[in-house]
Amino acid sequence: MDKESYIRRVKGFRTKKTLGQNFLIDYSAIEKILEYVDPCDDVVEIGAGVGFVTEELVKKAKSVTAIEIDKDAIKILEKNCKFSILNKENSCDFKIIEQDILKTDLSQFKKDKELKIVANIPYYITSPILAHLLGEIDDINNKNRNSISEIILMVQYEVAKRLVASEKSENIKDYGLLSILAQFWADVEIIKKVSKYSFYPAPKVDSALVRLRINKNPKVEVTPFLRKTIKASFSTRRKNIKNCLQNASFLGVEDALQSCNIDLNTRGEKLSIQDFSNLSKALYEKSKN
Ligand code: SAH
Repeated sequence: MDKESYIRRVKGFRTKKTLGQNFLIDYSAIEKILEYVDPCDDVVEIGAGVGFVTEELVKKAKSVTAIEIDKDAIKILEKNCKFSILNKENSCDFKIIEQDILKTDLSQFKKDKELKIVANIPYYITSPILAHLLGEIDDINNKNRNSISEIILMVQYEVAKRLVASEKSENIKDYGLLSILAQFWADVEIIKKVSKYSFYPAPKVDSALVRLRINKNPKVEVTPFLRKTIKASFSTRRKNIKNCLQNASFLGVEDALQSCNIDLNTRGEKLSIQDFSNLSKALYEKSKN
């Protein structure tokens, strides 16, 4: 289907900026998403909109649960997907949930295996949605994350670069709390850059499709001070790590840094996730003295 046909199908629907409604109208981008969906998958789609991705998902996946907050979009979503299911050979267990994703416990949708999440999400809540899906860094038993195997996510291109950035990245500003949150629990890769003209209405910036494969275990040891150490290290980007940590009232900062072979004058964005784990462990030890 070409872009004009998609646009014709939403004629008369007033898209809501406040809900971040930018519908995907580029079939090649939708096809790319489908490459990562298998017939045995239980898919949860976040922010299904009028269903341009959903109507394809129901043709391919075993089950699809579409979460959407907007009643008006749901009316069209329902029609589009019913039509799609009618024309499908195998049945798909399809459900629409009218709800705010940030208030939705995803574990309730898990059947015999972990869920695959597909989300061309409203960009204004990208970070809260990621935090909701992945849980905080030290939140080992997060119910949502434990129910998910993979997330296929559309985000602004700038955010995609932050999600995959590391201490070795060329543009060091990309590496921060979001990078660490994502990579702590998942293997993250950019699948494809997607032009802003692939959406209706076109947003101001380009996007990218990103894949997060969730790991059962965190990449490094989770220590009691881990989250606090990372947050403090990135709190003031102009300051060196020693000052950042001292400002956050950690004790024995110099000793802890030295014991981990970390230069007192370096900055948070030069430390790897492993460095943060080691450092938080050393700081925790110091706090007990
Ligand atoms: N996935 C669709 C729609 C993308 S637009 C497509 O690709 O065409 C993002 C959608 O998220 C909108 O339909 C918007 O109504 C919905 N949305 C916004 N905030 C939401 C929230 N908190 N919970 C669930 N859905 C939300």
